[in-house]
Amino acid sequence: KQEQYRKLKTQPAVTKDGVDITLQINAGLFVDLPNLDETNASGIGLFRTELQFMVAQHMPTTAEQQALYGAVLAAANGRPVTFRTLDIGGDKVLPYMERVEEENPALGWRAIRIGLDKPRLLRAQVRALLRAGAGYDMKIMLPMVATVNEFLRARLIVRRELAVLERDGRPAPSSLQLGVMVEVPSLLFELPEIAREADFLSIGTNDLMQFLFAADRENRRVSDRFDPLCAAGLRALRAIIDEADKAGCPVTVCGEMGGKPIEALALIALGYRSFSMSAASVGPVKAMLRTLDAGKARQRLDAWLAASDGAASLRPLLGALAAEM
Ligand code: PEP
Ligand code: MG
Repeated sequence: KQEQYRKLKTQPAVTKDGVDITLQINAGLFVDLPNLDETNASGIGLFRTELQFMVAQHMPTTAEQQALYGAVLAAANGRPVTFRTLDIGGDKVLPYMERVEEENPALGWRAIRIGLDKPRLLRAQVRALLRAGAGYDMKIMLPMVATVNEFLRARLIVRRELAVLERDGRPAPSSLQLGVMVEVPSLLFELPEIAREADFLSIGTNDLMQFLFAADRENRRVSDRFDPLCAAGLRALRAIIDEADKAGCPVTVCGEMGGKPIEALALIALGYRSFSMSAASVGPVKAMLRTLDAGKARQRLDAWLAASDGAASLRPLLGALAAEM
């Protein structure tokens, strides 16, 4: 298998019926960068900036953040990097930050919620990103956004920092795209608006499925209880891609789902064309998609969903389809 994946490395990520698929990797520390060359992925679709904060003994300064982001962009060597702003809080506690006890940390004060309540923290990070991004096409995305209003408020902060950078005569990014993680189900009921306002969407299936099914992703008693490949999970994912396509808004799937071959097959059948995954998943997913007839998969999935009979999962049907290809 490993040998097979190595051989595929230089082969394009194209389905059997000629559909181009973008495969990027998830990363979070500078040591992850060699994975770009090792997988031959086209970029980093999710850079988890909280990792630097979690391994540090003190709050990283703006200069320290800028140094890391700059080094990542340089090492990516022209390939795009999508930086996600801090996704801390909940279970990701920083030893040097005030600790808040919460009954339900996953539903608590975390990610963009902290960023909006403590704008100095978000502003400092955005400043570090914009400075490091001088001369680059920058992509920044915001985690755990629950409403379009939160996105608009965060965008205001980003735009102000960009204005400050330009006012001070500092070199700016060549372009800036501001995207949003779709991982809180409430956003599914504001899809036309978010697809219009955001420059791109990135689906965090880990959190999206946790919240959709109200099943803690860390609690083994319930984490596997609901298969995302059931009618509810697939229809939620279909609603996102359909609205994004309608609005012409690019979408990437950056949650673990995209890195599993059967799940990736289902996502391609739904219309997804861009994925970001752990480096180890690139080989297996590429091997799957190169044998896939995306058009046929779409027809099958549409028919199964239309005739949904309350099955716990479409996984057996999708598995059989994968074996048939
Ligand atoms: C997700 O929620 O799917 C995601 C990609 O983000 P994280 O796993 O870091 O929460
Ligand atoms: Mg998440």
